Amino acid sequence: MDQHKNQDIVDLFVIGGGINGCGIARDAVGRGLSVELAEMNDLASATSSASTKLFHGGLRYLEYWEIRLVREALIERETLLKAMPHISWPMRFVLPYHKDMRFESDTPTSKVLNVVMPWMKGRRPAWLIRFGLFMYDNLGGRKILKGTTSLKLKGTPVGAPLQDRFEQAYEYSDCWIEDSRLVVLNARDAQARGALINVRTKVVSATQVGGMWQITLEAQGGERRIVTARMIVNASGPWVEDIIRSTMRINSNEGVRLVRGSHIVTRKLYDHDKCYFFQGEDGRIIFTIPYETDFTLIGTTDADHVDVHEKPVCTPQEQDYLLDFASKYLKQPVTRDDIVFTYSGVRPLYNDGATSATAATRDYVLKLDQSAGGPILNVFGGKITTYRKLAESALEEIAPFFAQTGPQWTAGVALPGGDFPVDGVAALTEKLKTKYSFLTERWLNRLLKAYGSEVFDLLGDAKTEGDLGQNFGSNLTEREVNWLIEREFANTAEDIIWRRSKLGLRMTSKEIDALDSWMVNSAANLPEQHAV
Ligand SMILES: Cc1cc2nc3c(=O)[nH]c(=O)nc-3n(C[C@H](O)[C@H](O)[C@H](O)COP(=O)(O)OP(=O)(O)OC[C@H]3O[C@@H](n4cnc5c(N)ncnc54)[C@H](O)[C@@H]3O)c2cc1C
Repeated sequence: MDQHKNQDIVDLFVIGGGINGCGIARDAVGRGLSVELAEMNDLASATSSASTKLFHGGLRYLEYWEIRLVREALIERETLLKAMPHISWPMRFVLPYHKDMRFESDTPTSKVLNVVMPWMKGRRPAWLIRFGLFMYDNLGGRKILKGTTSLKLKGTPVGAPLQDRFEQAYEYSDCWIEDSRLVVLNARDAQARGALINVRTKVVSATQVGGMWQITLEAQGGERRIVTARMIVNASGPWVEDIIRSTMRINSNEGVRLVRGSHIVTRKLYDHDKCYFFQGEDGRIIFTIPYETDFTLIGTTDADHVDVHEKPVCTPQEQDYLLDFASKYLKQPVTRDDIVFTYSGVRPLYNDGATSATAATRDYVLKLDQSAGGPILNVFGGKITTYRKLAESALEEIAPFFAQTGPQWTAGVALPGGDFPVDGVAALTEKLKTKYSFLTERWLNRLLKAYGSEVFDLLGDAKTEGDLGQNFGSNLTEREVNWLIEREFANTAEDIIWRRSKLGLRMTSKEIDALDSWMVNSAANLPEQHAV
C-alpha cells in the first residue's frame, strides 16, 4: 500500500514508538486512516523493551480484584500467541507453596482476610492460592494452554534447585513474548499498510492552527519539519504527562505515576525449562525465567521513579533485593558474581492515588482531550499483553472523528513471519534444516524465534555460511544486519544487539565495536532514506 506523503494532512499523528503507539498505528491504518508516527529514539527503546516479557493475565492482580484486566489479558494471551507463534510461546510457571507466604498488606483480599481470618496474620492460605489458580484457568476461555496442576517437589527435576523446605507446588501456564520484536513487527505491519514511521524523530511542539494540529518534528541531527494532522494520539508512555503539559502546553489534571521495575540476568541457574513464581514475605512476587538458552532472568522490583528525564537503572539495592529474594528459595544462593546484565524500565501507570507502587492499577486508561480545540487521545498505563485490546479501545475513541473508519480487524491477523500454526514450529524447523543445512541448531532456533516464516526471505538462496557475508560474531551475519537496517528500522549496533536480538549477551565488546563501525560506514554510503 502507498505511504501517505510528507506534505499531506494526516488523520492521525501518533507520538511514541513503544508497543501502544505502534499497536494503535497498525490498527488505525488498517481501518483506512492515514497515519504518521514519530519515535524520538529507537522503536521500543523505553518501557517496551524493559518488561518481564510475558503475555500474562497477571495472577497477582486477582488479589487486587482487577478481574476485568485479568480476564481481558487471559483471553488475549491465546489470540496473540496465534498471531505470532515465532516470537511468543507457552511457558509453565511453578509456584512453590509455603505456609508463611504473605499478602501485600493493602490488597483488598488481604483486608478482607484480616477481618474474617485474623489468626492468619496476613499469610496466604493454600486454598486461596488454589482458588486464584482455578479462576486464572477458567476466567479467560483457555484452549491452547495447559491448565494448573499441583506437584510434589521432592526428588523431581523441578524441585531440585529449590531449598528442601519447599515440598509442594502448583504449576500454571502463561506465555513468553519477545517484547521489543513485538513492537518492531507492529511498526513494520503498520508501514506495510501505509503508515509513515519516523524513528529518531522527536515531537518538540504541537499547536492548533485553523482547526488542525501543527506538529513540529526534530530529527536527531537537528533538522525540523512540520506535519499537519487532524488528531493526535499521545502514546509516549512515561512521557505522557510531560507531553501534555510541556510539549502541548495543555492545562490538565491527568497524571502519570512512574513506577520503576528492574531485572537482573544471571548465568543459567537451573537446567529445566520452567519458570518459578516466588512469593516474598513482603507480599511481593518475583519470577525466575530461563532466558536466551544460557541465562536466567530475574525480576522485578517496584519503586517510584520521580523524574522521567532520568534514565532508569537497576540500582545496587534493587540488585541485592532480587538476589536475596531468589536466594530464599534456591538451594544455591545467587550472588552479584552471577549477574551478567541488568535492565530497568518505567511503568507509566495512571495515577489512581494508590498508596504503594505495587498497588497502583496496571489497567490502561484512555483520556480524550479537546480543550485545545483539536482532539488528542492520551494513553496511560497498559500492559504488553493488552496492547491490541488497548488499540481497539483507542480506535473506539478515534472513530467518531473519521467517518471512513473501518471495523475491528486485528484479532487473528498474523504479524510478519507469524503466519504458521502454534504447533507448526517443528515442521518449520525441519523445512529450514533441509533447505539451509549449514545452520547450526542454535543458529536456526534463534532465527526461527526472531523471524518465523520470514527466515526463508532473509536467507534467500544462501547455500553456505559464506553466502551471508561477514559474520560479526555469534552468527550475526551481514545479510541479517542488512535486513534489520532495511526492514526493521535499525540504525545502530545497540538497536540490533539489544532490541532486534539479544546478541549483546554473547558478543564481545570488540565484535560490537566492529559492527558499529560497519554500520556507520554503510550508512554513509546509503542514499538518504527519509529526510525529516
Ligand atoms: C519492569 C516492567 C515489567 C513489565 N512486565 C510486563 C509483562 O511481563 N507483561 C506485560 O504485559 N506488561 C509488562 N509491563 C508493562 C509494559 O511493558 C508497558 O505497559 C508497555 O511497554 C508500555 O508501552 P508504551 O508504548 O505505553 O510506552 P513506551 O514503550 O515507553 O513507549 C513510549 C515511547 O514514546 C517515546 N517518546 C516519548 N516522548 C516522545 C516525543 N516527544 N517524541 C517522540 N517520541 C517520544 C519514547 O521514546 C518511548 O519509546 C512491564 C513494565 C515494566 C516497567
